[in-house]
Amino acid sequence: MNYQLILDEVAEEVMSLKNKGKVANYIPALENVDIEQFGMSITLFDGTEYSTGNANTLFSIQSISKVFTFTMALKLYGTDLYKRIGREPSGNPFNSLVQLEYEQGIPRNPFINAGALNVTDSLLSHYHNSINSSNAIFKFIRDIASDNSITYNKNVALSEMDHGFRNIALANLMKSFNNLDNEVDDVVKTYFKHCAIEMNTKMLSRAMLYLANHGVDPINGIRYITEEQAKRINAVMLTCGHYDASGDFAFHVGLPGKSGVGGGIVVVVPKKMGISVWSPGLNSQGNSLLGTKALELFAKKTGLSIF
Ligand code: GLN
Repeated sequence: MNYQLILDEVAEEVMSLKNKGKVANYIPALENVDIEQFGMSITLFDGTEYSTGNANTLFSIQSISKVFTFTMALKLYGTDLYKRIGREPSGNPFNSLVQLEYEQGIPRNPFINAGALNVTDSLLSHYHNSINSSNAIFKFIRDIASDNSITYNKNVALSEMDHGFRNIALANLMKSFNNLDNEVDDVVKTYFKHCAIEMNTKMLSRAMLYLANHGVDPINGIRYITEEQAKRINAVMLTCGHYDASGDFAFHVGLPGKSGVGGGIVVVVPKKMGISVWSPGLNSQGNSLLGTKALELFAKKTGLSIF
């Protein structure tokens, strides 16, 4: 299969679309990103990588980081983690508060904000403080991406804190239901820091390989999690990775994926490759508009799907 040709075709087709969505504008640091950018990369099990467009441009990974923190928490706590977080699609926007009240402070899944805050809380309990937890998260991401240069954008993290009213509310609500062990301030600060990590599509497609290969990095043979855990993470990505558009993504793309409001999406093709796409314009559900379209086209042209 000529992946390079397919990626270039996909890039050309999506860039010609008039509607490129709307850049996230809830914080100034994200609002100023040029909407005319598009990058896409795939990394195969032997390390071969193919890219098109702005694949070297770093962007804010935002909620993509939730896949990595969920992996870390699952490794530390195993199925005990599900005593405090569910694994069902929420059918609600990523930052919604209402369901959390009805469901006694147990977030529906680890990929909506409430669930990710809860995951971060469990990491804080294990690593004792925000600095150690953040360092462990950075180390894990640098390991799976095989890139020690990866770090976070301080301005984005601080700006999130200045506008973090909803996330702080979600953390407080969980605290009121005894489903948050650490201080709200520590939890949200650590959460915003990992959301503010910057990567490009090349790094992210590489970082997905352990999930495409049942928990083992196919390039260096390192096992990060069990086969069972990798399968479960992929299942949660398929059912919950795009918030209330998860059904639509499964319908059109047919692969497990996770999006972020920075415009990035990561996708797993089991036993084959990791994929990442980035374009900062979002659709109404907060997922990259061109990114979703590109993945749909890529899946169609390659015939790749889990179904
Ligand atoms: N930092 C963002 C927030 O908490 C992440 C949301 C997202 O990427 N969907 O609102």
